Amino acid sequence: MQNRDYLLKLIDDGQNVRVWLAHTTNLVEEARQRHQTSATATAALGRALTAAVMMGSDLKSDHDLLSLRFNGNGPAGTIIATADGHGHVKGLIGNPQADLPSRFPGKLAVGDLVGKEGYLEVIKDMGLKQPFEGRVPLVSGEIAEDLAQYFMQSEQIPALVSLGVLVDTDLHVLAAGGLIVQALPEADDTVLERLENNILSLDQISQLIFVNNSLEDITSTIMQGIEYSILDVMDLAFRCNCSRERLGIILAGLSEQELREAAENNKDIEAICNFCKTVYTFSPEEIKALQSEKP
Ligand SMILES: [Zn+2]
Repeated sequence: MQNRDYLLKLIDDGQNVRVWLAHTTNLVEEARQRHQTSATATAALGRALTAAVMMGSDLKSDHDLLSLRFNGNGPAGTIIATADGHGHVKGLIGNPQADLPSRFPGKLAVGDLVGKEGYLEVIKDMGLKQPFEGRVPLVSGEIAEDLAQYFMQSEQIPALVSLGVLVDTDLHVLAAGGLIVQALPEADDTVLERLENNILSLDQISQLIFVNNSLEDITSTIMQGIEYSILDVMDLAFRCNCSRERLGIILAGLSEQELREAAENNKDIEAICNFCKTVYTFSPEEIKALQSEKP
């Protein structure tokens, strides 16, 4: 098994398909540790993070962001994953401790945890006044199927999406990764068929990541019989863009009474980032200073 999180983007020489293949074991494990997720919640959040970081890799400008928001009716609550165009992703899950027994051996009940009723939103924030938003109903809450439906309905792109997280009995992440195949306009059916057959013969993506030494090895199996070129290789990581300043601005919005109470009790105020769980501690004096800076 290979240790580095990275993404391969490739295209076949006949320009029929685009393929993204990602190894995300480390970033999903980091998310698990930060959010203290249950086994099933790790899989749900990990799949969302993996998909977001793959889709985000298409963003062009430095400040562009892509977010996936899964709002299902299951016990997981809302799941959000936000990626930039440089391979960085952060995320959160409403109820990290929520868990459900799996119905099939070796398969975590992600669909039940997320819920089958609800919707998936894809938000591309490119610094414009109005970010692009696509919204589709959930298909199964399994994340990958929901995204395939999004590509078809919102972007009119036939796509095959496979996402997987392998969780050990001690809850740590053994392997995580994803595969997205998109058919390009006027794609040759024989190429699509060959690719589909290649993929159908494969094991689950998390298992492939677990047993293979590199993504390049998996790629050669997926693309067997099809000439292709690798377009891009990108390192991936869990990274949050929060800062003391940013959290301070939020704290400055506390009421006078809350601040007075904190000052009277000589208590610090803690602000915790929802996305990475970093704790920022502010003294009552600091909060007052922030407040007086407000325009
Ligand atoms: Zn953060």
